[in-house]
Amino acid sequence: MYKKILSYRPSFKPSLVFLIIPVLIIFIFISKSFDQYSENGESKDQELENNLITVKDFLFNQFNSGATKVELKVRNGDSIQRILYDQKISPSEVNNVLNALRREYNFGALRNDQKVYLIVKREKNGNFVSRLTVNIDNITSVHVFLNKDNVYETKRVTKILTKKNHLIETTIDRGIYRTAKQSGIENSIVAQFARLYGFEVDFQRDLKKNDKIKIFYERYLDDDGVSQRTGNIIYSEITNVEKNIILYRYEYPNGTIAYFTPEGKSIEKSLMRTPINGAKLSSRYGFRIHPILGYNQMHQGTDFAAPIGTPVMASGSGTVEYSGWKGGYGKFISIRHSPVYQTNYAHLQDYAKGIRRGAKVQQGQVIGYLGSTGSSTGPHLHYEVVVNGRKENSQTLKLPSATPLEGNNKNFFEIQKRNIDNLILEASKKK
Ligand SMILES: [Zn+2]
Repeated sequence: MYKKILSYRPSFKPSLVFLIIPVLIIFIFISKSFDQYSENGESKDQELENNLITVKDFLFNQFNSGATKVELKVRNGDSIQRILYDQKISPSEVNNVLNALRREYNFGALRNDQKVYLIVKREKNGNFVSRLTVNIDNITSVHVFLNKDNVYETKRVTKILTKKNHLIETTIDRGIYRTAKQSGIENSIVAQFARLYGFEVDFQRDLKKNDKIKIFYERYLDDDGVSQRTGNIIYSEITNVEKNIILYRYEYPNGTIAYFTPEGKSIEKSLMRTPINGAKLSSRYGFRIHPILGYNQMHQGTDFAAPIGTPVMASGSGTVEYSGWKGGYGKFISIRHSPVYQTNYAHLQDYAKGIRRGAKVQQGQVIGYLGSTGSSTGPHLHYEVVVNGRKENSQTLKLPSATPLEGNNKNFFEIQKRNIDNLILEASKKK
């Protein structure tokens, strides 16, 4: 199903006056959406301007040619054909529009929430498409429109993006995620940041009000200066009372990217302490009253509470040893990382695609989704670290670090580090 945001047939009725104001507001909103394409420079489009430049013109068009502008949000199962038929466009006209669209876009694959804009001209001998715009993603759109000779033309418009490094310095107010949102940090960067520090810092527990974070990262801006895509974090810093952890991006000669402290050390560990993002530690390793059985029992894992469906990551690279139902553990995954280390994940809602016995997994790869299967009182992940066959406390366990930089890489790192320092200095001057 799709939602009509505006569909309005011109006819003079007393109620028209009450329609004008909402129509004006909605039209301004829609014409703004169109503007982002016409301001592209590369494709200054006369036809579009003629149709949409002012509200006065819009109303004039409404009463004279009977054009109707419709913004359509694609819902499950929608097709462009159906959208056009719904606007009472004749089959031959629909065919012409689709043939034109096909030159630039395989429209068989409409996604949910994809945006489609339509301008329909209503004339005595039928309804015509004056313009059809399909957004392919947030930087590319395809336009089909009638040219001066009344023939459909097709144009693909891609916004030109410029890479610009962006510096954010902010103080934690109420949680890292809220603070990031308020500072305009994109979700993809917050996720990257969480991954970089996931070995050392538990964002829920360790980051408090007034702690400081600094992130320097690549942003891709469109002509309007709006961030449309993000790249890598180049530098990041977390400062609180206990520690100050600085990380520099390092690009190896083969192009691989990794992060190191100013001394060239990695904070990555062979295993992550928290194999889930944004979860709350709800029960520690140790003795406790068992929530279901009632008696005092050793809790041989760590519980993380989060909503059902939250992705669970492999805390280290390795091979899946078990993936399936296991009694009170419910849906359960066990990963072998080395002859010494093994990790277990219990009460899962589901397994990620391809996670079966023998599958190889990378650190940070999503292996399943948090649930409440087996003997579980509510949605949580029960996480166990097994060292030489013994279940250990994952939160206090000393874990081996990834290898530090050596030899030539150490020298290259020093050069890249100085460059990054200069870039940050420049960026902070411009602020
Ligand atoms: Zn547990």
